[in-house]
Amino acid sequence: MEQKKNNHRLGHHYNVAGGTSKIILSFDFEHWYDSYFLRKYLDKSTIINQPDLIKESLSPILDLLKAKGISATFFITGKVAEKYPEIVKKIALDHEVAAHSYSHEVLYDREFEEYFEDIKRNKGILENIIGKKIFGFRAPCFSLNKQTLYLVKILEELGFKYDSSLVPAKVGPHGVNKASRLPFRLSRDNFFDDLGGKIIEFPLTTFCRMPISGGFYFRFIPYFIYKRLVRRQLIKENYFVFYGHPHEFFNFIPDVKAPRWKLKLKYWGIKNSFKKLEKFINDFEFINFQAYLHDKS
Ligand SMILES: [Zn+2]
Repeated sequence: MEQKKNNHRLGHHYNVAGGTSKIILSFDFEHWYDSYFLRKYLDKSTIINQPDLIKESLSPILDLLKAKGISATFFITGKVAEKYPEIVKKIALDHEVAAHSYSHEVLYDREFEEYFEDIKRNKGILENIIGKKIFGFRAPCFSLNKQTLYLVKILEELGFKYDSSLVPAKVGPHGVNKASRLPFRLSRDNFFDDLGGKIIEFPLTTFCRMPISGGFYFRFIPYFIYKRLVRRQLIKENYFVFYGHPHEFFNFIPDVKAPRWKLKLKYWGIKNSFKKLEKFINDFEFINFQAYLHDKS
């Protein structure tokens, strides 16, 4: 019991000791049509006949970050990297490149062997392009939960150092109730205590079970409220992970034959989302995962 207590403290060392009050800034970079939410409404011609938005959506974000001297973490799928190696190289000049699976399939739909190959492929492609090792992973749709803990073994075996896929609240199929809200060492059989595994987990940030780390919630919540929530969180726990997808900040809604309410949810606030991101970037300080880990160890 004493052992467990000590290890628990060790894990939380990552954020509590000498906190920076900086937000960990990340972008998940996959094709818009690899969205789990829309996938079942898409056919080949819908995808081929519309822009994939990779270059268009990324440029304004890179410019914005460059102007502020901010380095973020980009979790990039193998499919994007294979198609646009020069873009991955460009990102790597100023930012951390990390893995987001090759296929962008959710963990629930796969098993250990299949996903091992998928992540290995993703990691290999990214490392070949940028010419150095990568250490971070984020599961598509934050699909790490009690059923998909096989991910830990994959990450350990492939030499990753950290993961940021856990929502510490149950939201639909995602997340785990009462999981640790602060970084901890993820082990193969628990989400709650730091039992000294190899992989450091960076949970997403929630407020009253709402995953306010980004995505829909960033676009939906009025900015003056969002800003207050973030401030409150930084004061309370000295830890906040932000995530977004470049295509969420680019005002283009693809023509997809999905139910209207689904499209509305998916693209809520897209018209003003880049402006909102600009304000957010101006109002806070940011750091990427690798620099955060480096600062804390
Ligand atoms: Zn994703």
